[in-house]
Amino acid sequence: MARADYTIIGGGIAGLTTALLLAERGYRVRVYEERYPGAGATGAAAGLLVLHLKPQLIEIALDSLSIYKRIAGKGYIFNMGALLFTTPSCARGYEEAMRSHGLAAYRVDEERAREIAGLPLRTMEGEEVLYVDEYLVDVGSLVSRLHSLLGEAGATIEHAPGSIEAEGETIIAAGAWSHLLAPELQDKLILYRCQAAAYEAPRPGPALEDDTHGYYAVTHPGGDLVAGDGANTIITRPEEGYTPDQWEPYEILERISKRIPGAEEGYPRRIWSAPCSTTPDSLPLAGTLREGIHVITGFNGLGITLAGGVAARLVDYLEGKTRSMGMLDPARPMPPPPPDRPPEPYDECPPHSNT
Ligand SMILES: Cc1cc2nc3c(=O)[nH]c(=O)nc-3n(C[C@H](O)[C@H](O)[C@H](O)COP(=O)(O)OP(=O)(O)OC[C@H]3O[C@@H](n4cnc5c(N)ncnc54)[C@H](O)[C@@H]3O)c2cc1C
Repeated sequence: MARADYTIIGGGIAGLTTALLLAERGYRVRVYEERYPGAGATGAAAGLLVLHLKPQLIEIALDSLSIYKRIAGKGYIFNMGALLFTTPSCARGYEEAMRSHGLAAYRVDEERAREIAGLPLRTMEGEEVLYVDEYLVDVGSLVSRLHSLLGEAGATIEHAPGSIEAEGETIIAAGAWSHLLAPELQDKLILYRCQAAAYEAPRPGPALEDDTHGYYAVTHPGGDLVAGDGANTIITRPEEGYTPDQWEPYEILERISKRIPGAEEGYPRRIWSAPCSTTPDSLPLAGTLREGIHVITGFNGLGITLAGGVAARLVDYLEGKTRSMGMLDPARPMPPPPPDRPPEPYDECPPHSNT
């Protein structure tokens, strides 16, 4: 076998997308995966491609969207839209940020929100409701397309339960395991459990992004309502990420029922979780760690949303088309991590003008 130009460690969305973009540019790429493609957080994702983000992340998410559409085909990516329940100040920030990127973001009253949802739902005093663009990605199909396109582009994916003989440049894309492969990442990654559940419950047409009660919910094409919240538990070893909290889905159902009358009659059908990783400033890490060793990780609960766009930036950087990874550079100064919970990119809303 010809010597690889790039060895990629990890067959999640980040490793596979980076591998494909490199292989499409003519590099010889070998991906090593310890378990199976999608075995980490990727295979557990709810699949939302979220666009109500800070402006600099919206651009990355839109790049992910166009890359996934090209890879998976439009039939596997749906514009569900979302009803976003948030504070008036955040609503203004999201509205301005999204509109400046040509995305839908407009305020709706309770009656209109019910029509859009196709369900009775309650709005709360003091909150604003926005209808926003949001996509649902069929992650299983995306991973499977990435797998077959990699083969067509001449790249290989090797099952690597043991040690890896890296050739060429190495890219660490091992999700919540990445810090085990590079000491530089030890104090830069915070591991936590990401969890979701599928419910028998009323099913809204668009996704619900409920900042007021703290959960997201989306109706999957198969019919289940899949929901989770952002309140994640910090873990010390990635393996702990696979043990879901059995009680949490009942709490989330209670929160959903404050929004959708009748949801309290529902029940969780299936609960799952996987290890996620984030950084003290909640932005992903992508760039060079030391000569010949690069990284792409730290996507927190937004890896489906951001990995494609970050992979495209990393490949441009590796080819010398851009000189720096900017805000994603793993060497950037980090604030001290918050003591009790992992930071989320949603912690701050986008700034807005006061008009
Ligand atoms: C329940 C849940 C719901 C989520 N919902 C969403 C959502 O709706 N939208 C969204 O944008 N994001 C969501 N996420 C987050 C998203 O899934 C992750 O951010 C993303 O999948 C991370 O991708 P990754 O490739 O960095 O890591 P992973 O998918 O974890 O991939 C890392 C891979 O590396 C492999 N590996 C580890 N160590 C080694 C080694 N030594 N050698 C070889 N291979 C190794 C692992 O087996 C794994 O397959 C969710 C996550 C979970 C768990």
